[in-house]
Amino acid sequence: MEYLFSTLDPAQFFDPSSVAGPLYVFFIVFEILYIWKRKRGGDYESRDTAASLIMGSTSLVSRVLFGFIGYFIVSHIYAMRIMDIPTTPIMLVVLLFVDDFRYYWSHRFSHRIRWCWANHVIHHSSQHFNLSTALRQPVLNSFTGLVILYSPFALLGVHPGAIAFVGSANLIYQFFIHTETVGKFPRWCEAVFNTPSHHRVHHSTKPEHLDTNYAGIFIIWDRIFGTFVQEKDNEAMQYGLVYNLGTFNPLRIATHEFVGIFKDISQKGLKFSQRFAYIFAPPGWSHDGSRLTSLDIKRQAQDEID
Ligand SMILES: [Zn+2]
Ligand SMILES: [Zn+2]
Repeated sequence: MEYLFSTLDPAQFFDPSSVAGPLYVFFIVFEILYIWKRKRGGDYESRDTAASLIMGSTSLVSRVLFGFIGYFIVSHIYAMRIMDIPTTPIMLVVLLFVDDFRYYWSHRFSHRIRWCWANHVIHHSSQHFNLSTALRQPVLNSFTGLVILYSPFALLGVHPGAIAFVGSANLIYQFFIHTETVGKFPRWCEAVFNTPSHHRVHHSTKPEHLDTNYAGIFIIWDRIFGTFVQEKDNEAMQYGLVYNLGTFNPLRIATHEFVGIFKDISQKGLKFSQRFAYIFAPPGWSHDGSRLTSLDIKRQAQDEID
């Protein structure tokens, strides 16, 4: 019991994600064998899986190369902290919960701001939903600006090492919810935690599923902020993007939306506000209304039902 309140040195923490690779590979092989033997529970496509694994490795390299940018910003804010919160095991559990609130908003912004979506779209680019999809991670996280959402923690005196540690733990949890091998867990579990069922909805391309279930570990944030959608029993899903890329080329997957932004802002005759909106408005926004945002797609689908 005493251990729960003992002070730890977060400067000595390692990044759990940096050693999770073999664990991920083990569970992916396990899932492939499970699907092969049971003939159900999802599917794997070799080129899709290869692309996901390449994106996962590239994301890890990017963390090593550019991770210092976020750490630099958070460390500087930490230097201006108004108090000190000692790092203890119990504090890390509380931080994991509070940081999940930060993750919810970071993820929501990643869907609703095109600049951030250009980075996050990588994760949604697979038309399959299996454990390897979880590794299809963005490579330019350090450049979205969403690192700023960590600043309240740093300002309150949470050590950057502790912030990085729980952020990494959150991502490891999310690896396990990218699967069709399990249906639904007991009601209390589905009510509190983000589960494979909830995350299947997040990756689905049905209009009613777009921009829902942003949760990291706890689904309660979606329930509180009105973005929760329940998976129906035995619901057939289609995964990926509303307009799929039709490529397994990692470079195209990683850059296509940034290229799209560049092309859009380079159009002649636009006002400054329109160029600005092509970068920061929701994906699908266009100055002449020729494209659809996710809200437009939802409205159209609703009109068809009505
Ligand atoms: Zn997402
Ligand atoms: Zn996901």
